Amino acid sequence: MAIDPIRTIVIIGGGSAGWMCAAALSRSLRNLSCRIRLVESAEIGTIGVGESTIPPIISFIKSLGIDENDLIRKTQASFKLGIEFKDWVRPGHSYIHPFGPTGLPTKNVEFYAYWRKRHESGDARPLEEYSLQAVAARQAKFMRPIDLAKSPLQTITYALHLDASLLGAYLRGYAEVRGVTRTEGKVRSVALRAADGFIASVTLESGECIEGDLFIDCTGFRGLLIEGALKTGYEDWTHWLPCDRAFAVACERTGPFSSHTLAAARDVGWQWRIPLQHRVGNGYVYCSRFIDDTAAHDMLMSSLEGRALRDPLPLRFTTGRRRLVWNKNCVAIGLSAGFLEPLESTGIHLIYRGIALLVGSFPDRNFRQANIDRFNRQVAFEFERVRDYLVVHYTRTEREGEFWRHCRNIELPESLKERIELFSSYGRIVRDENELFPVQSWQYLFTGHEVEPSGYDPLAEGLTPEEAQQALDEISGLVARCATTIPLHQDFIAQHCAAPAE
Ligand SMILES: Cc1cc2nc3c(=O)[nH]c(=O)nc-3n(C[C@H](O)[C@H](O)[C@H](O)COP(=O)(O)OP(=O)(O)OC[C@H]3O[C@@H](n4cnc5c(N)ncnc54)[C@H](O)[C@@H]3O)c2cc1C
Repeated sequence: MAIDPIRTIVIIGGGSAGWMCAAALSRSLRNLSCRIRLVESAEIGTIGVGESTIPPIISFIKSLGIDENDLIRKTQASFKLGIEFKDWVRPGHSYIHPFGPTGLPTKNVEFYAYWRKRHESGDARPLEEYSLQAVAARQAKFMRPIDLAKSPLQTITYALHLDASLLGAYLRGYAEVRGVTRTEGKVRSVALRAADGFIASVTLESGECIEGDLFIDCTGFRGLLIEGALKTGYEDWTHWLPCDRAFAVACERTGPFSSHTLAAARDVGWQWRIPLQHRVGNGYVYCSRFIDDTAAHDMLMSSLEGRALRDPLPLRFTTGRRRLVWNKNCVAIGLSAGFLEPLESTGIHLIYRGIALLVGSFPDRNFRQANIDRFNRQVAFEFERVRDYLVVHYTRTEREGEFWRHCRNIELPESLKERIELFSSYGRIVRDENELFPVQSWQYLFTGHEVEPSGYDPLAEGLTPEEAQQALDEISGLVARCATTIPLHQDFIAQHCAAPAE
């Protein structure tokens, strides 16, 4: 059958998801004669949070041909080497989940295998002391990788903290230059084709009717097309991740200009701190069954490091995912596709994964079902693996209080049970292809939350205790020496990408 090309893509929504889609599609589809339109409503506005990212954001920026320093200046961004999880296991406990590699294999034995063996005998330092990213983050330092063979300075891996509204504005400029047309207006109704229930058009409050072949729902939690019009259904994961509300507020920065995100456990939920060039983003994620809104609001406001710059924004959500993220001729991207709380900063990542998967399975107007099914399976898989990763934070804790006792008793998803069982025998992580978190992230998670295996990887026997110890000492020494050569985060920004004064 002949290909019947998509002629018009209509994106509804101009938050981070909408403008990331518009920017990426305007570039990826530039050789096709396909019109891209975006509709957004200033009256409704955007959610205005979503400021901490993970390393694939750097590839996303590169794939658009954007100059990273230019984006950093214009979005008041800063650098991120990982996330510190403070007080999660018990008050006073802290570990960093750093990006990038930790340690080095020695004589073909994986680093974690021989680290764990020495750890069990009490002879290894904490895992993070073998990661340059973690050590630099603890010292509020940052630099980009440099070309220095056999040095951890060569593999520095980082992400960004950025202002969500400024990111949207930046990508809007990018997309409009590349031919995306923007319409300001509120969608009033969605018309479905009688024959097959596909979306035919949307009508704005102005009366304008916009037709399209492919619709991308970026309307946030509303899910105006995917749910409002197509009634796709939502899988609720609250029984695994019970937090359902948040307050978000920006404040002046008076504390350190750190190069990591802070996620600190609280009596009911947790609080984030995201340092940007011009302010600090803060938020408190909580469970309304265990704390009321006034107490949550007061808890956040009483723990800010500087003057609040506006009133806190209340947010409500249901953790889970849309049963089908691609339904008929509508693809949901962003919060309309599902929500996982921002504990590991995965929201924006799931947006560009959605976009990349869409480009990789781009349809024609025949919308082959096998293509759609494959896309949905892949998105579901990626959401579920991120969910499992988050669940460990809540369930592996000794914290006191009704909320944390409730969390400890959560029945784990089968996929997570299996992973923990596999880890429990030899301390090995078994990871499927296309999962977001690399093996090392799982190692940090399990080690940080004190999930202890009963033994270590038998391959660690390939090193004598002396050889293993020597390798560990060399690596931690090298990491510590490299860290001394890294500038302070604030100095690196001042030298390379400071935003103009406001
Ligand atoms: C508390 C919290 C903290 C978060 N923190 C992080 C984080 O640190 N890192 C991270 O990666 N992600 C984070 N996220 C997720 C992140 O905020 C979102 O993934 C991201 O902002 C994308 O949002 P969106 O574009 O899907 O929705 P929105 O920003 O809500 O945009 C929706 C758009 O749809 C438009 N719209 C809606 N209805 C209509 C209509 N009828 N007609 C026309 N237009 C309409 C709106 O005007 C708006 O433009 C967080 C989310 C929450 C809730």
